[in-house]
Amino acid sequence: MKLYNTATRKIEEFKPLKPPEVAFYTCGPTVYDFSHLGHLRTYTNSDVLKRTLQYLGYKVKHVMNITDVGHLTSDSDEGQDKMEKGAEKRQMTVWDLAKTYTDFFFYSTEQLNIKKPDIIAPATEHIPDFIKLIEVLLEKGFGYETGQAVYFDVKKFTDYGKLSGQKLEEKEIGVREEVHVDKEKRNPADFALWFKRVGRFKDHVMYWPSPWGDGFPGWHIECSAMCMKYLGETIDIHGGGIDHIPVHHENEIAQSEAATGKQFARYWFHNDFLLVEGQKMSKSLDNFLTIDHIKKRDIDPLALRLLYFQTHYRQIMNFTWDALYAAKSAYERLKAVIVELKEKEKKINMQEEYSEEGRSRKQKFIDAISDDLQMPRALAVLWETVKSNLPAREKLHLLLDFDEVLGLGLKTIEKEIYDIPEEVIKLAQEREEARLIGDFARADRVRDEIHKRGFAIKDTDHGFEIARRK
Ligand code: AMP
Ligand code: ZN
Repeated sequence: MKLYNTATRKIEEFKPLKPPEVAFYTCGPTVYDFSHLGHLRTYTNSDVLKRTLQYLGYKVKHVMNITDVGHLTSDSDEGQDKMEKGAEKRQMTVWDLAKTYTDFFFYSTEQLNIKKPDIIAPATEHIPDFIKLIEVLLEKGFGYETGQAVYFDVKKFTDYGKLSGQKLEEKEIGVREEVHVDKEKRNPADFALWFKRVGRFKDHVMYWPSPWGDGFPGWHIECSAMCMKYLGETIDIHGGGIDHIPVHHENEIAQSEAATGKQFARYWFHNDFLLVEGQKMSKSLDNFLTIDHIKKRDIDPLALRLLYFQTHYRQIMNFTWDALYAAKSAYERLKAVIVELKEKEKKINMQEEYSEEGRSRKQKFIDAISDDLQMPRALAVLWETVKSNLPAREKLHLLLDFDEVLGLGLKTIEKEIYDIPEEVIKLAQEREEARLIGDFARADRVRDEIHKRGFAIKDTDHGFEIARRK
């Protein structure tokens, strides 16, 4: 398996520390608002990495945190805690806010067939672990305390900046432009390990006792502590979005390696951004889309999963509705093929040997996914297999096998069997008549009636089709 490593800026042969085990950590969501399609792109690609490793025989232990405290509105130490800001906006307690958006996150990932991590670690349940790690850093001389916080001293960690390749002087120019709230800070790039419940945070709702007084942890320490707690001091792969490279991941490396003296993560796996109609997804631009926006348009979320695969994870992806509708048609075509094959072959033995052609198609699929997750190429192998003249049994076997990695739910696809109520059929006929005489307003009203009864109507070349709404 070849994988691009942000740390070396090269595609490398992936070799875990203790094969066949793979220790894998992904930065989880900050649960102050709805997870959007951008977040979901990153989590889908991490899921594909995990499934690929499993398909190739590795045993993956996957840990993900949930940031429910300490992530400020700027990735450095400026602004308000995102959780407290979100709670004010929504008029909820921070605890209810965390529950609401954690649930929404897992609801969204489930819709996309993203496997759950083996361990899900909410920050608020690990405060003693953060305190312990901060104590080690202070003992070793990497941290210092001021009236407002406990900081990591970046000048003490000689390798600071190695992930992004950014020199400390360049970084400080950027940081200097921000408003400095703590005059006792030694270097502008020093970052908080622990915020005291004083000054701008004197009314902070979430706080815990610590050797430095009541307060709350910094965002970066959370990932270092929880990652090392569950996966050990050196892990195989650490993943996240590219926005985390210059600050969050740089800081995670500094804290972890300063504390242990060992390499923290051997491979860094970063996903590029999702844009919407050419612009960054954001609420102010009103292009903030969640999985429910997709479902409201009667599109199966797995069509979105298929769409994500059409762009390599290290490239920017531009979301458009047109592209999603095209993916929807492609997904429906794939489902129809599976249903047809399943009708021919009621039972498949997944252990059955492949023919020479089958073996060669499987090898092509493996070559694509093992080449730094070339999913567009893997999809090409999928469609070539669909179009091939392989016997039904072998074709179905191969497609279901590929689906271990693709996760498009092909195993569970069944022919949709349902009774269409008489009244819905009558309404559909009424709509057809209205359309024929050009009374489109009435046709639309009748269509809405059909919708209300839980059915959708589609016009095709050979008349209308009625299906249950998803
Ligand atoms: P956050 O909740 O902001 O910490 O983000 C959770 C994860 O989603 C992080 O790994 C981010 O890098 C990633 N992410 C956020 N926005 C996008 C986006 N538009 N496209 C891809 N990944 C994103
Ligand atoms: Zn993290």
